[in-house]
Amino acid sequence: MQLFPTLCSFGAAQKVTGSKHLITTVTGEKILLDCGLFQGEGKDSDALNRHWGFEPREIDYVILSHAHIDHTGLLPKLVKDGFTGPIFCNSGTKDLCEIMLLDGAFIQKSDLERINRRRRERHELPIEALYDESDVYQTLEQMVVVANGRPFKVGETTWATYILNAHILGSAAIHLQLASLENKNIHFTFTGDIGRDSDQILDGPFPFPQSDYILCESTYGDRLHSVAEDVKDQLLKIVQETCVDRGGKVIIPAFSVDRTQELIYLLDQLSHEKLLPSIPVYIDSPLSIKATNIMAKHQEEFNPEILKYIMKDGDPFDFPNLHYTSKLEDSKAINSLQGPAIIISASGMAEAGRIKHHIANNIENPNNTILIVGYATPHTLAGQLIQGRNEVRIFGDFFQVNARVERMGNFSAHADYLEMLDFLGCQDAPKVKKVLLVHGNPDVMDVFADKIKAQGFPKVQKMVWGEPIELN
Ligand SMILES: [Zn+2]
Repeated sequence: MQLFPTLCSFGAAQKVTGSKHLITTVTGEKILLDCGLFQGEGKDSDALNRHWGFEPREIDYVILSHAHIDHTGLLPKLVKDGFTGPIFCNSGTKDLCEIMLLDGAFIQKSDLERINRRRRERHELPIEALYDESDVYQTLEQMVVVANGRPFKVGETTWATYILNAHILGSAAIHLQLASLENKNIHFTFTGDIGRDSDQILDGPFPFPQSDYILCESTYGDRLHSVAEDVKDQLLKIVQETCVDRGGKVIIPAFSVDRTQELIYLLDQLSHEKLLPSIPVYIDSPLSIKATNIMAKHQEEFNPEILKYIMKDGDPFDFPNLHYTSKLEDSKAINSLQGPAIIISASGMAEAGRIKHHIANNIENPNNTILIVGYATPHTLAGQLIQGRNEVRIFGDFFQVNARVERMGNFSAHADYLEMLDFLGCQDAPKVKKVLLVHGNPDVMDVFADKIKAQGFPKVQKMVWGEPIELN
């Protein structure tokens, strides 16, 4: 038996994805915080996702911080490899996991079909899927929904509490009260992904209890987001110039969860204020539509402004001329549509999904605007448009970029370093024994570590894959 609990990271350790942090309690129970998929690591991703570094059968409990795939995407594989215990999450995360894990399994399947076709041509053995739909359904069976803000018991000696952090619906920091054999409790907080005070819809981030150890994300540890412009004004200006002045279409690639709902809510407000021109608005993505329905039923996480708005407007995700197009034939019908329109579709980086068709159909017309509202890695279609390419390749064909490409900033779901320091500001800094950094690139962590120390936190350390830390 060990005197103190330990913490060991098996993902997001000096990387931005694959979040997996294992707590071993003094009685030997194993609690895994998040079970995320490694993404965007090129050829290494697959190997990283197949090597746990621990035995899935030996995990007793999982606690999820939020539904993003880099925090939950390996759960079905954990289950497939022998994990049978409860997966704790809140109601928002459970609902989102239902659609996102199934979507993840579907994308994986279609990607593998393409890759394996090529491998067969080269007489190579096919790659096996990490998991399939049946593993996702079994994973959902093992989920146990708990309330936000109220401690719940995990195993023999641990209490956990969710503290909402406004990153996406359901997203929360996890505070743990862990027993030690020295007759005192260890207070530990995993920040999860820290959201922003300026979120259009969600409330928070909320302060968390004083902690001895903080496992802190550091994605934007060296960055400041642009000063909050009025996104509503900005959006209206783009719509007016494109749709009214030039009679064109605004095409917006947007992440299905959060970003799409923020855009709908902004347009709803413009419609309510009678500022939005009378043009059709299409939400053209089955996943985005499902995510919007889920968001609408979780008003318990909404901020006071949107709740006040609901009192006078009713549904913040429904206004005249708004069309949700789930069916493929309705989506195809948008292609032949004449005249101005706004089309919001997924995926956010325009590397998959219906958005690619809309961009292909509209990119060569100088009257149209492609509006990028989020981060996009450089190799993706949205990333190439941000770089100002004159020509892009979509479905194997080359297209001239004649449409205007606009960016609307300040829409990130991740806090910048000032916002993260603000989140840590609820702590009596000298009493925190260590801030342990995860979910960031090492050079960014170094910059962020200096900023944290300047706030009075005595010790900051980068987590290393597979190297345990004693929480004493
Ligand atoms: Zn996230």
